[in-house]
Amino acid sequence: MTTPKRILVTGGAGFLGSHLCERLLKEGHDVLCADNFFTGAKRNILHLLDNPYFEVLRHDITFPLYVEVDEIYNLACPASPIHYQFDPIQTTKTSVHGAINMLGLAKRVGAKIFQASTSEVYGDPEIHPQPEHYWGHVNSIGVRSCYDEGKRCAETLFFDYHRQQNLRIKVARIFNTYGPRMDPNDGRVVSNFIVQALKGEPITIYGDGSQTRSFCYVDDLIEAFIRFMNSPDDFTGPVNLGNPGEFTILELAEKVIRLTGSRSQLVFKPLPPDDPKQRQPDIRLAKEKLGWQPSIPLEEGLKHTIEYFKGLIG
Ligand code: NAD
Ligand code: UDP
Ligand code: UDP
Repeated sequence: MTTPKRILVTGGAGFLGSHLCERLLKEGHDVLCADNFFTGAKRNILHLLDNPYFEVLRHDITFPLYVEVDEIYNLACPASPIHYQFDPIQTTKTSVHGAINMLGLAKRVGAKIFQASTSEVYGDPEIHPQPEHYWGHVNSIGVRSCYDEGKRCAETLFFDYHRQQNLRIKVARIFNTYGPRMDPNDGRVVSNFIVQALKGEPITIYGDGSQTRSFCYVDDLIEAFIRFMNSPDDFTGPVNLGNPGEFTILELAEKVIRLTGSRSQLVFKPLPPDDPKQRQPDIRLAKEKLGWQPSIPLEEGLKHTIEYFKGLIG
């Protein structure tokens, strides 16, 4: 049994945040979820609202927040291209002003702080798979830049607060993660394909479908978050967290069609600008430092996710 802590989860009503809040409550902690509900939803945390150790605060992290906590998981930020491109200026503000506020809070109360960074800091990578020491290949003025550069600047702030203010930081670079409670309308590939397959609508492949992604099931990822937060203070990251199993988008579509038994056809649509061609995490550092590697294969994770979406869309 771990000692109960007061833990702030920003973005706690989102896909990953809701799973994290659930896990932290199970471990006996006092959890404060701060979310402006831009892409998160009450339905993701409804089942937690009866728990007296769970509190929800409607709050936008681009504004200061004064609370007393022991740990902070900073997850607030729209994560899917449709959502982060909807109001790109707000996306950059959330990553940058949001990081400054959460780091200022961590500094004032002496809290340990975790940052949900992303594989997007590598941009359209020229090195494969991507290790943490790779500096990336990122467009600073494109439509994905609000997210990519916002997250890069947040990493810079984390490391400067660490060096200048001795803050205890944990920077995780998360690769594509999927599972129950993804937003059915956020346009991410796993949710899009499952919803399309279940509704018998065409499966939309962007480009020729030969681009690759490596998909991690949410439970595996949350386990890594907890191990990382509890690891020794001198392990700050950045550390890649994801599943190295790499698939083309066409392979993903075929799996979803087979597992849902759908009759949906494939349709090919233009590839969005700056869409990375390939992505696979090098997770040797996480294995060595956290003793962690994902254990849930894509097909098994897809089955759980399909069940969730069946319940959601009826
Ligand atoms: P999500 O959109 O489901 O969750 C983000 C949450 O942040 C939502 O609840 C949203 O309402 C909230 N939010 C957004 N802006 C906010 C603001 N200014 N103030 C307060 N709350 C705000 O996305 P997710 O997949 O759960 O992603 C969580 C975090 O993990 C994000 O920071 C994302 O960049 C990062 N990440 C996710 C993935 C993935 O594959 N899911 C990959 C890499 C990084
Ligand atoms: N801040 C916050 N909560 C706190 C402490 C600080 O939101 O409990 C915000 C505050 O608005 C400030 C930012 O964090 O602008 C950065 O704080 P820091 O102490 O690093 O810088 P300063 O206050 O000197 O600008
Ligand atoms: N994609 C696709 N059809 C869709 C949604 C996405 O072919 O309906 C592709 C997209 O172009 C990208 C990959 O799937 O190459 C992953 O997209 P997602 O938005 O999930 O994540 P990201 O591009 O941020 O990794």
